Amino acid sequence: MALRCPIVSVLGHVDHGKTSLLDKIRKTRVASREAGGITQHIGASEIPIDVIKKVCGNLLQMLKADLTIPGLLVIDTPGHEAFTSLRKRGGALADIAILVVDINEGFKPQTIEAVNILRQCKTPFVVAANKIDLIPGWNSKEGPFVLNFNEKNQHPNALTEFEIRLYENVIKPLNDMGFNADLFTRVEDITKTVCIIPVSAKTGEGVPDLLMMIAGLAQRFLEQNLNLNVEGHAKGTVLEVKEERGLGKTIDAIIYDGIARKGEYLVVGGPDGVVISKIKALLKPKPLDEMRNPRDKFKPVKEVVAAAGVKIAAPNLENVIAGSPLRIVPEDKIELAKEEIMKEIEESTIETDDEGILIKADTLGSLEALANELRKIGVKIKKAEVGEISKKDVIEVASFKQVNPLYGAIVTFNTKILPDAKREIEKYGIKLFEGNIIYKLVEDYEEWLKAELEKMKSDELSKLTKPAVIKLLPGCIFRQKNPAICGVEVIYGTLGVGVPLMRDDGKRLGIVKEIQDKGESVKEVKVGAQVSISIDGNVILGRYIKENDIMYVEIPENEVRKLYHEHINELRGDEQEALYRYMELKQKLENNPFWGR
Ligand code: GDP
Repeated sequence: MALRCPIVSVLGHVDHGKTSLLDKIRKTRVASREAGGITQHIGASEIPIDVIKKVCGNLLQMLKADLTIPGLLVIDTPGHEAFTSLRKRGGALADIAILVVDINEGFKPQTIEAVNILRQCKTPFVVAANKIDLIPGWNSKEGPFVLNFNEKNQHPNALTEFEIRLYENVIKPLNDMGFNADLFTRVEDITKTVCIIPVSAKTGEGVPDLLMMIAGLAQRFLEQNLNLNVEGHAKGTVLEVKEERGLGKTIDAIIYDGIARKGEYLVVGGPDGVVISKIKALLKPKPLDEMRNPRDKFKPVKEVVAAAGVKIAAPNLENVIAGSPLRIVPEDKIELAKEEIMKEIEESTIETDDEGILIKADTLGSLEALANELRKIGVKIKKAEVGEISKKDVIEVASFKQVNPLYGAIVTFNTKILPDAKREIEKYGIKLFEGNIIYKLVEDYEEWLKAELEKMKSDELSKLTKPAVIKLLPGCIFRQKNPAICGVEVIYGTLGVGVPLMRDDGKRLGIVKEIQDKGESVKEVKVGAQVSISIDGNVILGRYIKENDIMYVEIPENEVRKLYHEHINELRGDEQEALYRYMELKQKLENNPFWGR
Protein backbone atom coordinates (compact mmCIF):
# COMPACT_ATOMS: atom_id res chain seq x y z
CA MET A 1 0.00 0.00 0.00
CA ALA A 2 1.40 3.39 -0.97
CA LEU A 3 1.45 6.00 1.78
CA ARG A 4 1.61 9.68 1.13
CA CYS A 5 3.92 12.13 2.89
CA PRO A 6 2.54 13.19 6.25
CA ILE A 7 2.17 16.96 6.64
CA VAL A 8 4.04 18.37 9.61
CA SER A 9 3.47 21.74 11.33
CA VAL A 10 5.65 23.53 13.87
CA LEU A 11 3.99 25.36 16.77
CA GLY A 12 5.10 27.06 19.96
CA HIS A 13 5.59 30.31 21.84
CA VAL A 14 7.30 33.26 20.20
CA ASP A 15 11.12 33.18 20.45
CA HIS A 16 11.25 29.57 21.56
CA GLY A 17 13.01 28.73 18.32
CA LYS A 18 10.41 27.58 15.78
CA THR A 19 12.01 29.37 12.83
CA SER A 20 15.54 28.37 13.81
CA LEU A 21 14.51 24.75 14.20
CA LEU A 22 12.74 24.73 10.83
CA ASP A 23 15.84 26.21 9.23
CA LYS A 24 17.99 23.55 10.83
CA ILE A 25 15.63 20.81 9.64
CA ARG A 26 15.59 22.24 6.14
CA LYS A 27 19.38 22.30 6.07
CA THR A 28 19.54 18.62 6.96
CA ARG A 29 21.96 17.26 4.43
CA VAL A 30 23.71 13.99 4.07
CA ALA A 31 27.20 13.44 2.90
CA SER A 32 26.23 11.04 0.18
CA ARG A 33 24.97 12.73 -2.97
CA GLU A 34 22.74 9.95 -4.18
CA ALA A 35 20.49 10.14 -1.13
CA GLY A 36 19.33 13.45 -2.55
CA GLY A 37 18.46 16.49 -0.51
CA ILE A 38 15.46 18.31 0.68
CA THR A 39 12.98 19.42 -1.98
CA GLN A 40 11.61 22.89 -1.75
CA HIS A 41 7.86 23.15 -2.33
CA ILE A 42 5.69 26.23 -2.26
CA GLY A 43 5.16 26.97 1.42
CA ALA A 44 6.63 23.67 2.50
CA SER A 45 9.77 21.53 2.41
CA GLU A 46 9.90 17.82 1.70
CA ILE A 47 12.36 15.61 3.52
CA PRO A 48 12.58 12.34 1.60
CA ILE A 49 12.68 9.17 3.67
CA ASP A 50 16.18 8.37 2.38
CA VAL A 51 17.50 11.53 3.96
CA ILE A 52 15.80 10.70 7.26
CA LYS A 53 17.24 7.17 7.16
CA LYS A 54 20.74 8.46 6.42
CA VAL A 55 20.61 11.14 9.10
CA CYS A 56 19.25 8.80 11.74
CA GLY A 57 21.37 5.74 10.92
CA ASN A 58 21.39 3.25 13.77
CA LEU A 59 18.99 5.37 15.80
CA LEU A 60 16.15 3.98 13.75
CA GLN A 61 16.36 0.67 15.55
CA MET A 62 14.80 2.49 18.51
CA LEU A 63 11.55 2.77 16.58
CA LYS A 64 11.05 -0.98 16.25
CA ALA A 65 9.07 -0.23 13.09
CA ASP A 66 9.69 -0.05 9.37
CA LEU A 67 9.36 3.34 7.81
CA THR A 68 7.25 3.06 4.69
CA ILE A 69 6.18 6.70 4.41
CA PRO A 70 7.86 8.45 1.47
CA GLY A 71 9.09 11.33 3.64
CA LEU A 72 7.81 14.33 5.55
CA LEU A 73 6.27 17.50 4.17
CA VAL A 74 7.06 20.25 6.65
CA ILE A 75 5.01 23.45 6.42
CA ASP A 76 7.38 26.43 6.20
CA THR A 77 5.27 28.89 8.20
CA PRO A 78 5.47 28.04 11.87
CA GLY A 79 2.95 29.08 14.50
CA HIS A 80 -0.55 28.25 15.51
CA GLU A 81 -1.97 30.94 13.21
CA ALA A 82 -0.75 28.93 10.24
CA PHE A 83 -1.85 25.70 11.87
CA THR A 84 -5.40 26.88 12.50
CA SER A 85 -5.66 28.47 9.06
CA LEU A 86 -4.67 25.31 7.31
CA ARG A 87 -7.81 23.27 7.66
CA LYS A 88 -9.28 20.51 5.63
CA ARG A 89 -12.64 18.88 5.99
CA GLY A 90 -12.86 17.38 9.44
CA GLY A 91 -9.89 19.09 11.06
CA ALA A 92 -6.36 20.29 10.76
CA LEU A 93 -4.43 19.96 7.53
CA ALA A 94 -1.27 18.96 9.36
CA ASP A 95 -1.14 15.26 10.24
CA ILE A 96 1.53 15.70 12.91
CA ALA A 97 2.85 18.65 14.87
CA ILE A 98 6.10 19.62 16.53
CA LEU A 99 5.52 21.71 19.64
CA VAL A 100 8.63 23.77 20.32
CA VAL A 101 9.26 24.63 23.98
CA ASP A 102 12.33 26.46 25.27
CA ILE A 103 13.48 23.98 27.93
CA ASN A 104 14.84 26.88 30.00
CA GLU A 105 11.70 28.99 29.87
CA GLY A 106 9.02 26.35 29.91
CA PHE A 107 5.35 26.77 29.00
CA LYS A 108 4.16 30.22 27.95
CA PRO A 109 0.71 31.48 26.83
CA GLN A 110 1.17 30.47 23.20
CA THR A 111 2.50 27.05 24.23
CA ILE A 112 -0.68 26.43 26.18
CA GLU A 113 -2.80 27.71 23.31
CA ALA A 114 -0.95 25.46 20.88
CA VAL A 115 -1.55 22.40 23.08
CA ASN A 116 -5.22 23.28 23.35
CA ILE A 117 -5.51 23.63 19.58
CA LEU A 118 -3.71 20.31 19.01
CA ARG A 119 -5.99 18.62 21.50
CA GLN A 120 -9.07 20.06 19.84
CA CYS A 121 -7.89 18.97 16.39
CA LYS A 122 -6.79 15.59 17.77
CA THR A 123 -3.41 16.09 16.09
CA PRO A 124 -0.65 13.82 17.40
CA PHE A 125 2.47 15.76 18.38
CA VAL A 126 5.98 15.51 19.72
CA VAL A 127 7.65 18.16 21.85
CA ALA A 128 10.99 19.61 20.78
CA ALA A 129 12.56 20.81 24.04
CA ASN A 130 14.77 23.43 22.44
CA LYS A 131 17.86 25.40 23.49
CA ILE A 132 19.46 22.60 25.49
CA ASP A 133 22.80 24.23 24.61
CA LEU A 134 21.87 26.93 27.15
CA ILE A 135 21.62 24.50 30.06
CA PRO A 136 24.54 25.46 32.34
CA GLY A 137 27.51 23.21 31.61
CA TRP A 138 25.79 21.34 28.76
CA ASN A 139 28.20 20.21 26.10
CA SER A 140 26.08 20.46 22.96
CA LYS A 141 27.15 19.17 19.59
CA GLU A 142 25.60 18.43 16.25
CA GLY A 143 24.11 14.97 15.82
CA PRO A 144 21.95 12.56 17.74
CA PHE A 145 21.02 13.54 21.28
CA VAL A 146 21.11 9.93 22.46
CA LEU A 147 24.82 9.71 21.70
CA ASN A 148 25.56 12.89 23.64
CA PHE A 149 23.35 12.22 26.65
CA ASN A 150 25.68 10.31 28.98
CA GLU A 151 28.20 10.76 31.75
CA LYS A 152 31.08 10.50 29.35
CA ASN A 153 30.04 13.63 27.45
CA GLN A 154 28.25 15.61 30.17
CA HIS A 155 29.21 16.83 33.62
CA PRO A 156 26.96 15.27 36.32
CA ASN A 157 25.72 18.74 37.32
CA ALA A 158 24.67 19.45 33.73
CA LEU A 159 22.79 16.14 33.62
CA THR A 160 21.02 16.98 36.90
CA GLU A 161 20.13 20.45 35.67
CA PHE A 162 18.84 18.92 32.43
CA GLU A 163 16.55 16.53 34.32
CA ILE A 164 15.23 19.34 36.53
CA ARG A 165 14.42 21.62 33.59
CA LEU A 166 12.94 18.76 31.58
CA TYR A 167 10.61 17.86 34.42
CA GLU A 168 9.68 21.31 35.75
CA ASN A 169 9.41 23.14 32.43
CA VAL A 170 8.11 20.49 30.05
CA ILE A 171 6.84 17.25 31.59
CA LYS A 172 4.96 18.79 34.51
CA PRO A 173 3.06 21.44 32.51
CA LEU A 174 2.07 18.74 30.01
CA ASN A 175 0.87 16.52 32.88
CA ASP A 176 -1.09 19.48 34.24
CA MET A 177 -2.84 19.74 30.88
CA GLY A 178 -3.76 16.08 31.00
CA PHE A 179 -1.01 14.50 28.88
CA ASN A 180 1.39 11.73 29.79
CA ALA A 181 4.82 12.85 28.68
CA ASP A 182 8.42 11.73 28.98
CA LEU A 183 11.84 11.88 27.44
CA PHE A 184 11.47 9.95 24.17
CA THR A 185 14.05 7.32 25.13
CA ARG A 186 11.89 6.39 28.13
CA VAL A 187 8.59 6.13 26.26
CA GLU A 188 7.15 2.64 25.79
CA ASP A 189 4.12 3.42 23.65
CA ILE A 190 4.30 6.54 21.49
CA THR A 191 0.55 6.49 20.92
CA LYS A 192 -0.11 6.95 24.65
CA THR A 193 2.72 9.16 25.87
CA VAL A 194 3.91 12.43 24.37
CA CYS A 195 7.58 12.11 23.38
CA ILE A 196 9.91 14.92 24.36
CA ILE A 197 12.99 15.28 22.19
CA PRO A 198 15.69 17.60 23.55
CA VAL A 199 17.20 19.66 20.72
CA SER A 200 19.31 22.69 20.00
CA ALA A 201 18.39 24.61 16.88
CA LYS A 202 21.72 26.36 17.32
CA THR A 203 24.07 23.38 17.33
CA GLY A 204 21.81 20.88 15.59
CA GLU A 205 21.88 18.47 18.50
CA GLY A 206 18.82 16.24 18.62
CA VAL A 207 17.61 17.05 15.09
CA PRO A 208 18.12 13.42 13.91
CA ASP A 209 16.24 12.16 16.99
CA LEU A 210 13.44 14.63 16.27
CA LEU A 211 13.13 13.56 12.61
CA MET A 212 13.12 9.92 13.61
CA MET A 213 10.39 10.41 16.19
CA ILE A 214 8.16 12.42 13.84
CA ALA A 215 8.56 9.81 11.14
CA GLY A 216 7.87 7.05 13.68
CA LEU A 217 4.82 8.80 15.08
CA ALA A 218 3.49 9.49 11.60
CA GLN A 219 3.97 5.88 10.64
CA ARG A 220 2.18 4.58 13.76
CA PHE A 221 -0.72 6.99 13.78
CA LEU A 222 -1.34 7.47 10.15
CA GLU A 223 -0.88 4.14 8.46
CA GLN A 224 -4.59 3.84 7.85
CA ASN A 225 -5.13 7.45 6.90
CA LEU A 226 -2.23 8.17 4.60
CA ASN A 227 -3.51 6.01 1.81
CA LEU A 228 -2.32 7.83 -1.27
CA ASN A 229 -5.33 8.30 -3.45
CA VAL A 230 -3.63 8.16 -6.86
CA GLU A 231 -6.87 7.75 -8.80
CA GLY A 232 -8.54 10.70 -7.17
CA HIS A 233 -8.44 14.33 -8.11
CA ALA A 234 -6.42 16.73 -6.03
CA LYS A 235 -7.81 18.12 -2.79
CA GLY A 236 -6.15 21.01 -1.05
CA THR A 237 -6.30 24.16 1.02
CA VAL A 238 -5.38 27.72 0.08
CA LEU A 239 -2.31 28.89 1.98
CA GLU A 240 -2.11 32.37 0.56
CA VAL A 241 -3.30 34.48 -2.35
CA LYS A 242 -0.38 36.37 -3.86
CA GLU A 243 0.31 38.81 -6.65
CA GLU A 244 3.27 37.60 -8.75
CA ARG A 245 5.01 39.62 -11.40
CA GLY A 246 3.96 38.42 -14.82
CA LEU A 247 1.43 35.95 -13.42
CA GLY A 248 -1.14 38.20 -11.75
CA LYS A 249 -2.98 36.84 -8.71
CA THR A 250 -1.85 33.32 -7.84
CA ILE A 251 -2.76 30.82 -5.15
CA ASP A 252 -0.24 29.06 -2.93
CA ALA A 253 -1.84 25.82 -1.88
CA ILE A 254 -1.09 22.64 -0.02
CA ILE A 255 -2.39 19.54 -1.77
CA TYR A 256 -3.16 16.87 0.82
CA ASP A 257 -4.73 14.23 -1.36
CA GLY A 258 -4.71 13.06 -5.00
CA ILE A 259 -2.94 14.32 -8.11
CA ALA A 260 -3.22 17.71 -9.81
CA ARG A 261 -2.47 18.03 -13.53
CA LYS A 262 -1.70 20.99 -15.72
CA GLY A 263 -4.66 22.00 -17.91
CA GLU A 264 -7.23 20.85 -15.35
CA TYR A 265 -9.69 23.13 -13.61
CA LEU A 266 -9.36 24.79 -10.25
CA VAL A 267 -12.53 24.74 -8.15
CA VAL A 268 -12.12 26.85 -5.04
CA GLY A 269 -14.29 28.44 -2.39
CA GLY A 270 -14.71 32.21 -2.48
CA PRO A 271 -16.62 34.51 -0.18
CA ASP A 272 -19.62 34.47 -2.52
CA GLY A 273 -19.63 30.84 -3.50
CA VAL A 274 -17.39 28.78 -5.72
CA VAL A 275 -14.81 30.09 -8.20
CA ILE A 276 -14.03 27.92 -11.23
CA SER A 277 -10.95 28.71 -13.25
CA LYS A 278 -8.85 26.96 -15.89
CA ILE A 279 -5.34 26.44 -14.61
CA LYS A 280 -2.63 28.22 -16.62
CA ALA A 281 0.28 26.72 -14.72
CA LEU A 282 1.23 24.60 -11.74
CA LEU A 283 4.45 26.01 -10.34
CA LYS A 284 7.19 24.87 -8.02
CA PRO A 285 10.15 26.90 -6.79
CA LYS A 286 13.16 26.75 -9.03
CA PRO A 287 16.20 25.24 -7.34
CA LEU A 288 18.83 27.90 -6.62
CA ASP A 289 21.32 26.44 -9.07
CA GLU A 290 18.81 26.69 -11.93
CA MET A 291 17.76 30.24 -11.14
CA ARG A 292 19.50 32.49 -13.65
CA ASN A 293 17.26 35.49 -13.15
CA PRO A 294 16.02 36.18 -9.61
CA ARG A 295 12.66 37.28 -11.03
CA ASP A 296 12.26 33.91 -12.59
CA LYS A 297 11.61 32.09 -9.34
CA PHE A 298 9.25 29.34 -10.43
CA LYS A 299 9.26 26.46 -12.83
CA PRO A 300 6.13 24.93 -14.31
CA VAL A 301 5.43 21.26 -13.64
CA LYS A 302 3.09 18.84 -15.39
CA GLU A 303 1.63 17.31 -12.27
CA VAL A 304 1.72 17.49 -8.51
CA VAL A 305 1.26 14.49 -6.23
CA ALA A 306 0.03 14.83 -2.63
CA ALA A 307 1.28 15.84 -0.21
CA ALA A 308 2.78 18.93 -1.81
CA GLY A 309 2.90 22.69 -1.83
CA VAL A 310 2.21 24.31 -5.20
CA LYS A 311 1.61 27.71 -6.74
CA ILE A 312 -1.40 27.85 -9.06
CA ALA A 313 -1.66 30.47 -11.78
CA ALA A 314 -5.19 30.93 -13.13
CA PRO A 315 -7.59 33.78 -13.96
CA ASN A 316 -10.26 35.16 -11.59
CA LEU A 317 -8.53 34.53 -8.29
CA GLU A 318 -9.05 38.05 -6.88
CA ASN A 319 -11.68 37.10 -4.32
CA VAL A 320 -10.27 33.82 -3.10
CA ILE A 321 -9.47 33.82 0.62
CA ALA A 322 -6.80 32.02 2.61
CA GLY A 323 -7.97 28.82 4.23
CA SER A 324 -10.50 28.01 1.50
CA PRO A 325 -10.86 24.43 0.30
CA LEU A 326 -9.94 23.62 -3.30
CA ARG A 327 -10.06 20.83 -5.89
CA ILE A 328 -8.16 20.38 -9.13
CA VAL A 329 -10.15 18.31 -11.61
CA PRO A 330 -10.63 17.54 -15.33
CA GLU A 331 -13.49 19.32 -17.08
CA ASP A 332 -16.03 16.51 -16.66
CA LYS A 333 -15.56 16.48 -12.87
CA ILE A 334 -16.16 20.20 -12.31
CA GLU A 335 -19.76 19.81 -11.18
CA LEU A 336 -18.87 17.08 -8.72
CA ALA A 337 -16.00 19.13 -7.29
CA LYS A 338 -18.27 22.15 -7.03
CA GLU A 339 -20.74 20.19 -4.97
CA GLU A 340 -18.00 18.97 -2.68
CA ILE A 341 -16.63 22.46 -2.15
CA MET A 342 -20.09 23.91 -1.51
CA LYS A 343 -20.67 21.26 1.11
CA GLU A 344 -17.35 21.99 2.76
CA ILE A 345 -17.99 25.71 2.79
CA GLU A 346 -21.42 25.17 4.24
CA GLU A 347 -19.97 23.02 6.97
CA SER A 348 -17.26 25.52 7.74
CA THR A 349 -19.52 28.56 7.71
CA ILE A 350 -19.91 29.68 11.21
CA GLU A 351 -23.44 29.70 12.47
CA THR A 352 -24.50 33.11 13.68
CA ASP A 353 -27.05 34.30 16.18
CA ASP A 354 -29.87 36.81 15.74
CA GLU A 355 -28.00 39.18 18.00
CA GLY A 356 -24.48 39.37 19.34
CA ILE A 357 -21.00 40.67 18.58
CA LEU A 358 -18.81 40.86 15.46
CA ILE A 359 -15.80 38.60 15.07
CA LYS A 360 -13.16 38.82 12.35
CA ALA A 361 -10.07 36.82 11.48
CA ASP A 362 -7.47 36.56 8.76
CA THR A 363 -8.50 33.13 7.49
CA LEU A 364 -11.46 30.76 7.55
CA GLY A 365 -9.62 28.34 9.81
CA SER A 366 -8.74 30.89 12.45
CA LEU A 367 -12.22 32.39 12.27
CA GLU A 368 -13.67 28.97 12.94
CA ALA A 369 -11.30 28.36 15.85
CA LEU A 370 -12.09 31.77 17.35
CA ALA A 371 -15.84 31.24 17.00
CA ASN A 372 -15.56 27.80 18.62
CA GLU A 373 -13.70 29.14 21.62
CA LEU A 374 -16.12 32.04 22.10
CA ARG A 375 -19.11 29.72 21.74
CA LYS A 376 -17.73 27.54 24.51
CA ILE A 377 -18.21 30.38 26.99
CA GLY A 378 -21.65 31.21 25.61
CA VAL A 379 -20.82 34.29 23.55
CA LYS A 380 -23.42 35.26 20.95
CA ILE A 381 -22.02 36.02 17.51
CA LYS A 382 -24.10 38.09 15.14
CA LYS A 383 -21.54 38.21 12.35
CA ALA A 384 -18.32 36.31 11.58
CA GLU A 385 -16.13 37.30 8.66
CA VAL A 386 -12.67 36.96 7.16
CA GLY A 387 -10.89 40.24 6.47
CA GLU A 388 -9.83 43.59 7.86
CA ILE A 389 -12.06 45.84 9.95
CA SER A 390 -13.68 48.66 8.02
CA LYS A 391 -15.70 51.70 8.98
CA LYS A 392 -18.80 49.89 7.78
CA ASP A 393 -18.16 47.05 10.24
CA VAL A 394 -17.93 49.47 13.15
CA ILE A 395 -21.14 51.24 12.23
CA GLU A 396 -22.83 47.87 12.08
CA VAL A 397 -21.55 46.98 15.54
CA ALA A 398 -22.85 50.33 16.81
CA SER A 399 -26.30 49.10 15.78
CA PHE A 400 -25.72 45.77 17.62
CA LYS A 401 -24.83 47.86 20.65
CA GLN A 402 -28.19 49.59 20.57
CA VAL A 403 -29.87 46.23 21.02
CA ASN A 404 -27.68 45.48 24.03
CA PRO A 405 -24.62 47.40 25.25
CA LEU A 406 -22.84 44.07 25.69
CA TYR A 407 -22.96 43.51 21.93
CA GLY A 408 -20.93 46.63 21.27
CA ALA A 409 -17.76 44.59 20.87
CA ILE A 410 -15.48 43.34 18.10
CA VAL A 411 -13.12 40.41 18.61
CA THR A 412 -10.45 40.12 15.91
CA PHE A 413 -7.73 37.59 15.30
CA ASN A 414 -4.70 38.67 13.29
CA THR A 415 -6.52 41.29 11.20
CA LYS A 416 -5.81 44.88 10.29
CA ILE A 417 -8.00 47.74 11.46
CA LEU A 418 -8.36 50.42 8.80
CA PRO A 419 -7.60 53.98 10.02
CA ASP A 420 -11.12 55.33 9.49
CA ALA A 421 -12.49 52.31 11.37
CA LYS A 422 -10.33 53.23 14.35
CA ARG A 423 -11.94 56.65 14.47
CA GLU A 424 -15.43 55.16 14.39
CA ILE A 425 -14.54 52.72 17.16
CA GLU A 426 -13.73 55.69 19.40
CA LYS A 427 -16.77 57.63 18.29
CA TYR A 428 -19.25 54.86 19.08
CA GLY A 429 -17.43 53.59 22.17
CA ILE A 430 -17.06 50.10 20.70
CA LYS A 431 -14.94 47.69 22.69
CA LEU A 432 -12.20 46.17 20.52
CA PHE A 433 -10.31 43.01 21.32
CA GLU A 434 -7.40 42.36 18.98
CA GLY A 435 -4.50 39.94 19.06
CA ASN A 436 -3.11 36.69 17.79
CA ILE A 437 -3.61 34.41 20.77
CA ILE A 438 -7.11 33.01 20.68
CA TYR A 439 -7.39 31.99 24.29
CA LYS A 440 -6.08 35.39 25.41
CA LEU A 441 -8.73 37.11 23.30
CA VAL A 442 -11.42 34.92 24.79
CA GLU A 443 -10.12 35.52 28.30
CA ASP A 444 -9.98 39.30 27.82
CA TYR A 445 -13.47 39.33 26.37
CA GLU A 446 -14.80 37.26 29.25
CA GLU A 447 -13.21 39.59 31.79
CA TRP A 448 -14.72 42.64 30.11
CA LEU A 449 -18.12 40.97 29.94
CA LYS A 450 -18.01 40.16 33.65
CA ALA A 451 -17.03 43.70 34.58
CA GLU A 452 -19.73 45.17 32.32
CA LEU A 453 -22.39 42.89 33.76
CA GLU A 454 -21.39 43.83 37.28
CA LYS A 455 -21.45 47.50 36.37
CA MET A 456 -24.88 47.17 34.82
CA LYS A 457 -26.13 45.33 37.88
CA SER A 458 -24.79 47.86 40.35
CA ASP A 459 -26.13 50.69 38.17
CA GLU A 460 -29.53 49.07 38.37
CA LEU A 461 -29.22 48.42 42.09
CA SER A 462 -28.32 52.05 42.74
CA LYS A 463 -31.61 53.05 41.11
CA LEU A 464 -33.68 50.81 43.40
CA THR A 465 -35.01 51.84 46.85
CA LYS A 466 -32.89 50.30 49.60
CA PRO A 467 -34.82 48.52 52.35
CA ALA A 468 -34.52 49.72 55.95
CA VAL A 469 -36.27 49.22 59.29
CA ILE A 470 -35.85 52.10 61.76
CA LYS A 471 -36.93 52.88 65.33
CA LEU A 472 -37.99 56.22 66.81
CA LEU A 473 -35.61 56.77 69.73
CA PRO A 474 -37.07 57.67 73.14
CA GLY A 475 -36.73 61.32 74.13
CA CYS A 476 -35.78 62.26 70.60
CA ILE A 477 -38.82 63.99 69.16
CA PHE A 478 -37.29 67.36 68.34
CA ARG A 479 -40.19 68.80 66.37
CA GLN A 480 -43.69 67.31 66.01
CA LYS A 481 -44.62 68.39 62.47
CA ASN A 482 -44.01 70.55 59.36
CA PRO A 483 -41.45 69.15 59.10
CA ALA A 484 -41.30 66.53 61.82
CA ILE A 485 -37.78 66.09 63.22
CA CYS A 486 -36.70 63.17 65.38
CA GLY A 487 -33.85 60.85 66.34
CA VAL A 488 -33.95 57.33 64.90
CA GLU A 489 -31.80 54.21 64.90
CA VAL A 490 -31.38 52.09 61.78
CA ILE A 491 -32.21 48.56 63.00
CA TYR A 492 -31.65 46.83 59.62
CA GLY A 493 -30.70 48.04 56.18
CA THR A 494 -29.73 51.36 54.65
CA LEU A 495 -31.71 54.55 55.08
CA GLY A 496 -31.41 57.15 52.35
CA VAL A 497 -32.76 60.64 51.71
CA GLY A 498 -35.94 60.81 49.60
CA VAL A 499 -37.52 57.50 50.63
CA PRO A 500 -41.08 57.25 51.95
CA LEU A 501 -41.58 55.91 55.49
CA MET A 502 -44.47 53.71 56.56
CA ARG A 503 -45.98 52.61 59.85
CA ASP A 504 -46.36 48.88 60.62
CA ASP A 505 -50.05 49.07 59.67
CA GLY A 506 -49.18 50.40 56.22
CA LYS A 507 -49.95 54.07 56.84
CA ARG A 508 -47.67 56.41 54.91
CA LEU A 509 -45.92 58.87 57.27
CA GLY A 510 -43.97 61.02 54.82
CA ILE A 511 -40.71 61.32 52.90
CA VAL A 512 -37.28 61.46 54.53
CA LYS A 513 -36.19 64.98 53.63
CA GLU A 514 -32.88 65.19 55.38
CA ILE A 515 -30.58 63.01 57.46
CA GLN A 516 -28.16 64.57 59.92
CA ASP A 517 -25.34 62.56 61.43
CA LYS A 518 -23.48 64.38 64.22
CA GLY A 519 -24.63 67.72 62.91
CA GLU A 520 -23.70 66.97 59.28
CA SER A 521 -26.15 66.41 56.48
CA VAL A 522 -25.63 62.97 54.84
CA LYS A 523 -27.26 61.14 51.94
CA GLU A 524 -27.37 57.65 53.42
CA VAL A 525 -26.74 55.81 56.70
CA LYS A 526 -26.29 52.14 57.46
CA VAL A 527 -27.43 49.69 60.08
CA GLY A 528 -26.64 50.75 63.66
CA ALA A 529 -26.53 54.48 62.89
CA GLN A 530 -28.32 56.85 65.26
CA VAL A 531 -29.21 60.00 63.36
CA SER A 532 -31.77 62.73 63.28
CA ILE A 533 -34.10 62.91 60.31
CA SER A 534 -36.71 65.35 59.09
CA ILE A 535 -39.90 63.91 57.58
CA ASP A 536 -41.87 65.82 54.99
CA GLY A 537 -45.58 64.92 55.13
CA ASN A 538 -48.66 64.93 57.32
CA VAL A 539 -47.08 63.01 60.20
CA ILE A 540 -47.45 64.37 63.71
CA LEU A 541 -44.82 62.81 65.94
CA GLY A 542 -46.04 61.55 69.29
CA ARG A 543 -49.48 61.04 67.83
CA TYR A 544 -49.20 58.90 64.63
CA ILE A 545 -45.97 57.41 65.75
CA LYS A 546 -44.61 57.13 69.25
CA GLU A 547 -41.24 56.58 70.93
CA ASN A 548 -39.79 53.12 70.30
CA ASP A 549 -42.21 52.56 67.39
CA ILE A 550 -40.88 50.90 64.23
CA MET A 551 -40.98 52.49 60.76
CA TYR A 552 -40.30 50.84 57.40
CA VAL A 553 -39.00 52.24 54.16
CA GLU A 554 -41.87 51.82 51.71
CA ILE A 555 -40.78 50.10 48.46
CA PRO A 556 -42.96 49.52 45.37
CA GLU A 557 -43.65 45.85 44.68
CA ASN A 558 -41.82 45.78 41.31
CA GLU A 559 -38.64 47.03 43.02
CA VAL A 560 -39.02 44.49 45.81
CA ARG A 561 -39.21 41.77 43.17
CA LYS A 562 -36.02 42.98 41.50
CA LEU A 563 -34.20 43.16 44.82
CA TYR A 564 -35.43 39.74 45.83
CA HIS A 565 -34.77 37.91 42.55
CA GLU A 566 -31.83 39.71 40.94
CA HIS A 567 -29.82 41.52 43.56
CA ILE A 568 -30.25 39.60 46.80
CA ASN A 569 -26.59 38.57 46.82
CA GLU A 570 -25.43 42.14 46.42
CA LEU A 571 -27.34 43.20 49.56
CA ARG A 572 -25.67 43.02 52.97
CA GLY A 573 -27.11 40.52 55.45
CA ASP A 574 -28.92 43.24 57.40
CA GLU A 575 -30.31 44.72 54.16
CA GLN A 576 -31.64 41.29 53.26
CA GLU A 577 -33.20 41.09 56.72
CA ALA A 578 -34.86 44.49 56.22
CA LEU A 579 -36.21 43.33 52.87
CA TYR A 580 -37.57 40.04 54.27
CA ARG A 581 -39.25 41.83 57.19
CA TYR A 582 -40.82 44.36 54.87
CA MET A 583 -42.05 41.60 52.55
CA GLU A 584 -43.53 39.65 55.47
CA LEU A 585 -45.32 42.74 56.69
CA LYS A 586 -46.75 43.56 53.24
CA GLN A 587 -47.79 39.93 52.73
CA LYS A 588 -49.72 40.09 56.00
CA LEU A 589 -51.21 43.53 55.36
CA GLU A 590 -52.33 42.67 51.86
CA ASN A 591 -53.25 39.13 52.76
CA ASN A 592 -51.17 37.86 49.83
CA PRO A 593 -48.44 35.32 50.61
CA PHE A 594 -46.83 36.02 47.20
CA TRP A 595 -46.49 39.77 47.53
CA GLY A 596 -43.06 40.82 46.28
CA ARG A 597 -42.12 37.36 45.05
P1 GDP B 1 10.47 31.71 16.94
O1 GDP B 1 9.91 33.05 17.29
O2 GDP B 1 9.89 30.62 17.77
O3 GDP B 1 10.45 31.39 15.48
O4 GDP B 1 12.03 31.75 17.42
P2 GDP B 1 13.33 31.99 16.57
O5 GDP B 1 13.68 30.79 15.79
O6 GDP B 1 13.22 33.27 15.85
O7 GDP B 1 14.40 32.09 17.75
C1 GDP B 1 14.35 33.12 18.72
C2 GDP B 1 15.74 33.39 19.25
O8 GDP B 1 16.27 32.27 19.92
C3 GDP B 1 16.74 33.72 18.14
O9 GDP B 1 17.60 34.73 18.61
C4 GDP B 1 17.48 32.42 17.95
O10 GDP B 1 18.79 32.62 17.49
C5 GDP B 1 17.48 31.85 19.34
N1 GDP B 1 17.51 30.37 19.35
C6 GDP B 1 16.66 29.55 18.71
N2 GDP B 1 16.97 28.26 18.97
C7 GDP B 1 18.02 28.28 19.79
C8 GDP B 1 18.82 27.27 20.44
O11 GDP B 1 18.60 26.07 20.30
N3 GDP B 1 19.84 27.68 21.23
C9 GDP B 1 20.11 29.00 21.42
N4 GDP B 1 21.15 29.32 22.21
N5 GDP B 1 19.41 29.97 20.84
C10 GDP B 1 18.37 29.63 20.04
